[in-house]
Order: sequence, then C-alpha cells, then structure tokens
Amino acid sequence: MTTPQELDLTTISPTRLWVPQHVMITRAAADLPHTAEIIRRCERAGVDDIRFLPGNALTGLRGASERETYASAKNTLAVVVAPPSALKPQPIPPSADWRIDLAKGCPAHCQYCYLAGSLQGPPVTRVYANIDDVLDGIRTHAGRGSVTRGTLERGNEGTTFEMSCYTDPLGIESVTGSLAAAISRVGAGEFGSDVQMRFTTKFDDVGELVTLDHGRRTRVRFSVNAAEVANRFEGGTARMPARLAALRAVAAAGYRVGLTIAPIMPIPGWREQYGALLDDVSGAVAGIGDLDLTAEIITHRFTPASKEVLLGWYPKTKLEMDEDLRSQKRSKFGGVKYVYPKQTMTEMREWFTEELERRLPAARLLYWT
Ligand code: SF4
Repeated sequence: MTTPQELDLTTISPTRLWVPQHVMITRAAADLPHTAEIIRRCERAGVDDIRFLPGNALTGLRGASERETYASAKNTLAVVVAPPSALKPQPIPPSADWRIDLAKGCPAHCQYCYLAGSLQGPPVTRVYANIDDVLDGIRTHAGRGSVTRGTLERGNEGTTFEMSCYTDPLGIESVTGSLAAAISRVGAGEFGSDVQMRFTTKFDDVGELVTLDHGRRTRVRFSVNAAEVANRFEGGTARMPARLAALRAVAAAGYRVGLTIAPIMPIPGWREQYGALLDDVSGAVAGIGDLDLTAEIITHRFTPASKEVLLGWYPKTKLEMDEDLRSQKRSKFGGVKYVYPKQTMTEMREWFTEELERRLPAARLLYWT
C-alpha cells in the first residue's frame, strides 16, 4: 500500500494545463461568489484578457473563417449562469443515475470528440458560475434513479452522478475550481453519505485533488486508449503515461478510480496495443492498498451530425468514419449511429473481457458498449 509519506505531492505536477487566452463573464454571472474564485484562478494562471460583458449573450466568437472561429472558441472560457433547463438532472445510462454539468465545452482537440454535434455554435467552454444551483441537483435527486441505484452490480455505489458528459472537468479545473468545490462538498457529506460522483478525464492535473477531503465519494476515471489512437487523435490532452501517473496518484490518495477505455478502435495490431495499455495500467496501480478500480469500455461510433461537425473542425483527419465499413444502429428516437460490424464487435468484446480479467484482475468491468 502507498502511504501518504510515499505520495510526494511536490512531484505531482501537470504535464498539460489549459490556460484560456480570453475569459468572458456574462452580466448574470458577474457577482456570483464562484465567479470570484474563477477570476482568482485565471489571474493566477496569467490570463490578462478578462472581460465583463454588458449582457448575457456571448458575442464576438466568430472569426473570419471557420478555422479562426474554432481556434478562438477553443481558447475562450465563458463564465455563465446555467439556465434552469441545464439544471435538471437527467438519467445517463449506462454510466450513472444522473448527469450533473459543471460546464459545457472542452478545450482539448480530440478528432473523434463526443461533444461534436451536441453543442450549438462555436466550441467555447462555458463554465457555470451558479455552482450551488448545479450541485443542488444532487440534493434533490439523492435516493432516486434506477440506472445504477438499486441494481445488483452497482447498487453499493448509492445514487451516482456523472459530471463529464459535456466537458472534461479536470481539463478546466485549474481555472475554474468547480471540481474541487463539488468533491469537497460531497466528501463532507453535505448531500448525505449514499451518493457518489464520477467523472472521466484525459488530463493529469491532480495536484489539488489529492489534497481534498473526498470521503471516497468520488470516482476519478481516466480515459485511456492504445498509444497510436491517443497520440494521433487526442490533441491538447495529457499523454498516456502522464494520465497513468495521475491515476496512481489519486488512487494512492484514496479515491475510487476507473478506466474509460474509449473509444476503442480495431486499428492494425489492436490486440498488442491494447494489451500493452492494460499492462501499463496494471503497473500503474501495483501496490495500491484499498484499490477500487472499475472499467468501462466504449467502441468508436459516429452519427451523421457528429461526422459533419468533426470534418469541419478537422478536415484532414485520418479518423475512419466510413459508413460503408460500419453497421447502422437506430436509437429509440429514430437517430442513426454508425458502429463497427457485428463480427468485429464480438471479437473485440471477447478479447477485452478475457484480457481485462487476465491482465488486470483488480478491475471490475461495469459495461461494454
Ligand atoms: S477530452 Fe473529451 S470532450 Fe474534450 S475534446 Fe476530447 S473527447 Fe471532446
């Protein structure tokens, strides 16, 4: 087991920190206490363009070209008030009972980004300044929900709240502090003892997180992938060894941890590459006492809308999004998504299930999709 003495906090420094070039604060957000914390963090990070807008509309986000608009939006943090429609927790199967959003948008540049097609307008990151209202969803929904709560496999987690549906909360944490606030308040038992938060990240900025009193009520998952996929398609994120070092650090600090192995792709040599990844994870968690490690495995998929947005953002991408090579899957609302054909899915599923058990027996597989 790693003791607190062994966990040298001075060595936990992030390899990838996002610092926005522009910060815009809407009128409604201007006087909220969490906005003061965000400004403090932005100033500390050296941001010198912090603007108070006269109203609540985000203006001036469009550049002369799509390229410029994208670049400028990805360099902008907007501090806004979450509207009532964004405050109502929604069920989010298979991950958690409810979704809670600390922010919407992400500064990274993944060429398969899950947010493509689900966010409107330029991809600016909007952080919610009314964090009390956001977290109030935990209060109103604790003890409710049926995605994980009450199930045989995951009922012991209590009511679960997913925080990374629309953002990478750790990627923006150094300039927002929203995650630290949420983890500390849930950890202190403000919302009862039977709730658990969860988020997934491709960043490694865990220096502050390991100092928090988290009460083991937050599961920190790292989004991991084969080296070739991560290096080629996950721009602006921490490299895989850095994510695994961060995984070790938070696990040693007593957090429940997890892997989001996603999006998996049957690239040439995929068995060797994903095998090496699982072995690296095994090395990263070796010797951690009280380890609570889960795995979620998600295959790559795209929709017509996400493909169109992604090709606009990354016109030269080598990411395979060829409908002819895929199977169509219809959602219950009639939407179409393209997944790998059945035989590929079966092969990958069997391989991952077996190899996870063999190479990483400590990990509990929560779902495959
Ligand atoms: S880290 Fe997640 S949300 Fe951010 S760009 Fe990558 S896929 Fe999109």
